[in-house]
Amino acid sequence: MLRIGYGFDVHQFGGCRPLIIGGVNIPCMKGIKAHSDGDVMMHSLIDALLGAACYGDIGSMFPDTDAKYNNIDSRKLLRIAWEKITRQGFLLENIDITVILQVPRINTYIYQMKHHLSQDLNCSVTSINIKATTTDTLGYIGRSEGIACIAVVLLTR
Ligand SMILES: [Zn+2]
Repeated sequence: MLRIGYGFDVHQFGGCRPLIIGGVNIPCMKGIKAHSDGDVMMHSLIDALLGAACYGDIGSMFPDTDAKYNNIDSRKLLRIAWEKITRQGFLLENIDITVILQVPRINTYIYQMKHHLSQDLNCSVTSINIKATTTDTLGYIGRSEGIACIAVVLLTR
């Protein structure tokens, strides 16, 4: 059985948190505003995985009203979610991720991001694709007010 999942997340610039995408701390003039570590890649990927497994969403699995999730490394959330999903017998087929941002350029960090995801999901880097695009200066992303990420996953059981 094939199960597809889709996830989308946005975080805004303007806070004091470092820019972390895919567990990589990326040098950036702008900080991120978030209750969590603001990792759009991890959050959209968790939502995609939960979606494929029919497990609701990241907000219901890890409520932001629960103090134990404050400031938590989103890679830990990914590992917890993935453990629950694999316990149901799901296997990962592939992941395709698009990070949408005007600044900064992240191309040189993509290998490291893939490496993190492959560690957290216990899969090969060849199952993971990560790409980055801009909005050609249009909209909130084009004005560098925030960063978005879309993740699509395919699971089998
Ligand atoms: Zn988020």
